[in-house]
Amino acid sequence: MVNTFLKYAFYPLMLTSSLVAGLTMLHFEVPLPWIVPIISLTVIPLCFWLELKFPETPHWRFDKQELVSDVLHASLSNTIPTALFRALFFGLVTAAAVQLEGALGYSLWPEHWPLLAQLLWAVLIIEFISYWIHRSLHTVPLLWPLHALHHASRRYYCMIGLRKHPVQVIYTYGIRLTILWLLGTPAAVMTLYLGMVATNSMMQHMNVPMRCGVLNWIFATPQLHRWHHSKEVVESNSNYGDLLIIWDAIFGTRILPDNVERLYDEGLGLPDGTKVDNSYWGHLKMPFVWKHIQPDNK
Ligand SMILES: [Zn+2]
Repeated sequence: MVNTFLKYAFYPLMLTSSLVAGLTMLHFEVPLPWIVPIISLTVIPLCFWLELKFPETPHWRFDKQELVSDVLHASLSNTIPTALFRALFFGLVTAAAVQLEGALGYSLWPEHWPLLAQLLWAVLIIEFISYWIHRSLHTVPLLWPLHALHHASRRYYCMIGLRKHPVQVIYTYGIRLTILWLLGTPAAVMTLYLGMVATNSMMQHMNVPMRCGVLNWIFATPQLHRWHHSKEVVESNSNYGDLLIIWDAIFGTRILPDNVERLYDEGLGLPDGTKVDNSYWGHLKMPFVWKHIQPDNK
C-alpha cells in the first residue's frame, strides 16, 4: 500500500503541496525570505526518512562522509554565494532595469496577469535559461569541472540535489537572477518557483521508486533525472531540466530508457571512472585540481 502510494502518488502530491504551501504563506504574509527555507526544511527530513524506510536499491544508500559533505553544501555552498550575489548586484541590476523600462516606455513583466499565469510565464523563462546553463556545464570543457562534483557520487539520495560547487552556484544563479531582475519579475513569483524547484530537486535525487506516467512529458521527474546521473556520457548529457522537461523534449535531449536496474550497481557517477575525495574540502578544491585527478594523469 505505502509502496504503491510512493510509486504513483507521492511525486505529484509533493509538487502540488509545495505550490499550495507557497501560495498559503504568501496569503498569510509570511516574509518572503522565509518561504523557501520553510518548504525545504519540511521536505528534506521527509524525503530522507522515506528513502531510509523504502529504498529503491540498497546500492544507493549514502555513506557518512558524503552525507556530512552534503549537509555542509546545503548550509554553505548554496546559501553564501547566493546571498553574496544578491548583496552585490541586486541594487545595480534593478537600477538598470528601471533605466531599461524608461527607455522602452513599457514594462517588461506582465504584472497585470493573474499570479498563477505570471508563475507559468516565469517557469517557462527560467527553465529555458536553466536548460542552456546546465547544458553548457556539461558540454563546455572549461565549465564541466565546476559541475562534475554534482555527478561524482556513485550513490543516489535526496541530498545529492544540494551538492553544488559555490562557483557553479554563482554562475547558475547569477545568470538567472540577473535576467529575472532585468525583466522585473516580482519577488513573490520567484519565491513560488524556487519553492517548487527546491522540492523537485530533492525528489529528483531520491532513492525511492517513483513512476510518473504522463508527467514525464511535462516535468523533470525523478524517473527521468536518474538517467542524467548515469556514467554513460550519452545518458548524462540529457534530461537537463530543473523543473520542466519540455525544453529537453524540444531540443532533443529527453531520454527515458526502461531498464533502470542497470543503474543500481555501479551505473552512476563520472563517465571516465574518475574517483574523487568526498570530504567537503575535497569537493571545494576539485575543479582546481581537476587535471590531476583524471585517470589518464595517474
Ligand atoms: Zn548535470
